[in-house]
Amino acid sequence: MHTAISSGASPGSLSPGSWPALVLNADFRPLSYYPLSIWSWQDTIKAVFLDRVNTVALYDKAVRSPTAEFRLPSVVSLKTFVRPSRHPAFTRFNVFLRDRFSCQYCGTKEELTFDHLIPRSHGGQTTWENVVTACSCCNLRKGGQMPAAANMWPHQMPFQPSVNDLHKNGRLFPPNYLHRSWLDYLYWDAELEA
Ligand SMILES: [Zn+2]
Repeated sequence: MHTAISSGASPGSLSPGSWPALVLNADFRPLSYYPLSIWSWQDTIKAVFLDRVNTVALYDKAVRSPTAEFRLPSVVSLKTFVRPSRHPAFTRFNVFLRDRFSCQYCGTKEELTFDHLIPRSHGGQTTWENVVTACSCCNLRKGGQMPAAANMWPHQMPFQPSVNDLHKNGRLFPPNYLHRSWLDYLYWDAELEA
């Protein structure tokens, strides 16, 4: 099956100025970790008015209509439990995260891109099991060759990670922007696994 790598919203691309809300499931765990479940403040307000979520925490920031003022939620929780997906989305960010943002051939963290372990010209597909993080230098060196022909093997064979796998790596690479009100709901299990 061909699956394109979507750009995917990475938590690192969030900016505090957009007042995003962290969305929790009805069990108060994030609805999704990778990517982190985040709604724009507009979507969040809509969900509050449709009575689909409870407001858990608020920003200091308020928006005004002619007749009322609403403080923007920073954390909301769904009123109805949604079964979480077991597998993280196949995104650029998540492939990098699985591979700890390092080239799987030489280990550098610079100029990262993706390599098809089995080249596309040999029928290799764009899947978790065939895409590895590679620097542009190694990518160029391997070119369209099979791993054996190029004598280049990744440090870690590509695999479909579980949410837990990405969790472990995610702690090493915290997103650029996490509002402090979110922290109670992220990585709450860190000490249990330490
Ligand atoms: Zn490299």
